[in-house]
Amino acid sequence: MLLHFIFTAADSTELAARGVEVEYAGRMARFFADWAGEAFAADLRVRFDEMTTGRRGALLGRLDTHSAVADHRARGEGDYHFYLCHFRPTWTDCTCEGYHAENFGMVYWQRPRGGDAAAFMAERNCTAVSHEIAHELLRQAGYGRFVQDVHDVWMRHFHAGLPFEQYGGDHSRTEGRPDFLTIDASSFRGRLGAGRG
Ligand SMILES: [Zn+2]
Repeated sequence: MLLHFIFTAADSTELAARGVEVEYAGRMARFFADWAGEAFAADLRVRFDEMTTGRRGALLGRLDTHSAVADHRARGEGDYHFYLCHFRPTWTDCTCEGYHAENFGMVYWQRPRGGDAAAFMAERNCTAVSHEIAHELLRQAGYGRFVQDVHDVWMRHFHAGLPFEQYGGDHSRTEGRPDFLTIDASSFRGRLGAGRG
């Protein structure tokens, strides 16, 4: 299956100004192909693109969850589209600023403001993407509690000190400085390995 990440910005000026973020998001996209295989036994090809939406949403209308869903439908619902958005999802059941549906994911991409940009994006954005990907790949694997169990783990990250999984630039686990951080998928790995759900 194709997992197609789409990084959005209002216009080309904004896109150019966010080169560091686009570069990180492109590397992160490639990382998630490996993570999806390792954690969810999913065989994914990854593509990464940028998209400008217009300042007032001229291309997509009002910029919200529906805008991204409409773009997903226009591109073809057979591919898994994942939007890294400069606007927030307007409705979601998620406990992060993201949204998921069949073959669809989106997160509000938080912009680093000074400091260690890569560390900020790993902590805020990469983790949220992993949250939404976990929902969808568990759903595809026929795992019944694909919403609740991800939210249970997510709560433990924020309220019980559970560490995120840490990965280096080579996509393997690291105890050193991580390039990528994800939700702890250990509880899903075991169950999917025992007959996918
Ligand atoms: Zn969620």
